[in-house]
Amino acid sequence: MSQSDCLFCRIVNGEIPSKKVYEDDVCIAFNDISPQAPTHVLVIPREHIRSLDDADSNAGDTLGHLLLKAAEIAREKGFAKDGYRMVINTNSDGGQTVFHLHVHLLGGRQFIFPPG
Ligand code: 5GP
Ligand code: ZN
Repeated sequence: MSQSDCLFCRIVNGEIPSKKVYEDDVCIAFNDISPQAPTHVLVIPREHIRSLDDADSNAGDTLGHLLLKAAEIAREKGFAKDGYRMVINTNSDGGQTVFHLHVHLLGGRQFIFPPG
């Protein structure tokens, strides 16, 4: 169910513009407004799921879809063989700021681990 007070639901609905790189029935992918790497794409479910902590066992197919689509985008962008990072910030300590589940796909540079 779409939530009128959720930024990413509003992006899904087209009420807020975004630079889409991919969309289908389950997800949309768009460029992050504040990129942390040469490519920084957010892959989100159309359905409002607040966080990974709020995803139940019914969300398994959706979560798998997000990861596989993000991996596909990495191949299309041409950096999959060099490598990339996916991140799902979850709740406060995880650094989540937008409470509509999203996968960050970051590529085009070297990353260090552990992240800050
Ligand atoms: P989080 O911190 O919740 O894991 O990630 C939220 C991400 O959403 C951040 O990387 C932030 O730059 C991005 N973001 C916040 N507002 C907007 C927006 O209006 N448009 C887009 N494209 N990205 C946004
Ligand atoms: Zn939402």
